[in-house]
Amino acid sequence: MTVKGLKGFKDVLPNEVHLWQHIENTARKIFHRFGFSEIKVPILEKTELFARSIGEATDIVEKEMYTFPDRNDISVTMRPEGTASVLRAYIEHGMHVLQSGQRLYTIGPMFRYERPQKGRLRQFHQMSVEAIGSGHPRVDAEVMAMAWTLMEALSLNVSLEINSLGCRECRPEFKKALVEFLDKRQDKVCADCNRRSKTNPLRVLDCKSENCQQQYVDAPSILDHLCGSCEDHFLEVREGLELLGIHYSVNSRMVRGLDYYTRTTFELITNDLGAQNAVGAGGRYDGLLEQLGGQDKPGVGFAVGMERLVLLVNEDIIKAEKRKPDVFLITLGEDAARKGFSLMHGLRGQGAKVSMDHDGRSMKSQMKLADKHGARYVIILGEDELANNEALLKNMVSGEQETVALSDDMGTCCTGIYERIRVRTINT
Ligand code: ATP
Ligand code: MG
Repeated sequence: MTVKGLKGFKDVLPNEVHLWQHIENTARKIFHRFGFSEIKVPILEKTELFARSIGEATDIVEKEMYTFPDRNDISVTMRPEGTASVLRAYIEHGMHVLQSGQRLYTIGPMFRYERPQKGRLRQFHQMSVEAIGSGHPRVDAEVMAMAWTLMEALSLNVSLEINSLGCRECRPEFKKALVEFLDKRQDKVCADCNRRSKTNPLRVLDCKSENCQQQYVDAPSILDHLCGSCEDHFLEVREGLELLGIHYSVNSRMVRGLDYYTRTTFELITNDLGAQNAVGAGGRYDGLLEQLGGQDKPGVGFAVGMERLVLLVNEDIIKAEKRKPDVFLITLGEDAARKGFSLMHGLRGQGAKVSMDHDGRSMKSQMKLADKHGARYVIILGEDELANNEALLKNMVSGEQETVALSDDMGTCCTGIYERIRVRTINT
């Protein structure tokens, strides 16, 4: 029997990898524009790091982490998210004394033992960004604007939902009101919600059960319980978004799955992925650095899920890819193969993606290969063409074909062909 991959762990095959690269490259450019630098952090950390940051009474820490003792019996965990590791590194390397480097991003795999489904895996990838050092509400707006810019650059149709979860001062009041509300509905909601109402009451608002959600329609709103300074903060975040012309809606029921959020939280929502409707999410986490043993510095960040982005950008990018000057070179006979071999190298030098057959296949099977490659162009070098020192250039999409002269100077000849391909590609 063959060994198969683990459930929820996915291979990214070559026909999909260009999407990943496109998304990452686009994101890196935008992150740099907003002053973020890349940091690479380990996949394995001490379990304590996540218990202390994400929170003991969260789904992630309670039941989703890949936690095990290492060979020296230290409890280690494969990171379920990026923020905790980045903040640990920030503290460990004394990065607060640096002028730059307070805006950090990291890209890589995360691990959560969840029920795998479309857009939900056990190993998934996030691009995670952290702006550390300022508590100003305009930084919240700036970070959301960066997420928004990325969505626009990828031509994604998402909406931005925002909320405030208050702070250490005002959240307890809200919790109290919520627990009172929940106590009266114990027999109407699920067992999970009843348990949550004791351990982590805010989380009930995030319950996926329709029935529970109906019960919570009249639940108290956090926004009615914000203290003066949280209320001001939230107002200024909204003003910041308005200054930047970014549309948003307020969702007072949005709570996040991680306990470290304070004040602003937000999600980027799509209608195209069924239940997995969040493409990215984040918020402010003032107090988290101190909680991890660092200086008391505020921070705000977000993470976007690569797999969900890949599911969404698919169509558009593939269309763009098709417009690339992609060539398959068909040669018949050894002389043509030699000429074709140097033509291929020359065209690659110009920037074209070119492939050819080296195994003397028939014209028909080389045509089939060209089709398989999804080549936009085919260049045919047969005996007749070779005798006339020319080649046949065929556009596989439109069916158009033309003869191109091959001079002895391979450089000029490749420039000429490449220009024809490029110009026609731009015009279609
Ligand atoms: P969800 O509500 O979908 O479970 P979450 O609130 O757990 O998301 P975060 O922990 O804030 O999400 O992670 C941010 C983003 O990472 C999500 O918006 C999503 O795009 C992605 N993500 C989270 N968990 C998974 C997963 N198991 N598989 C794939 N992507 C994920
Ligand atoms: Mg989740």
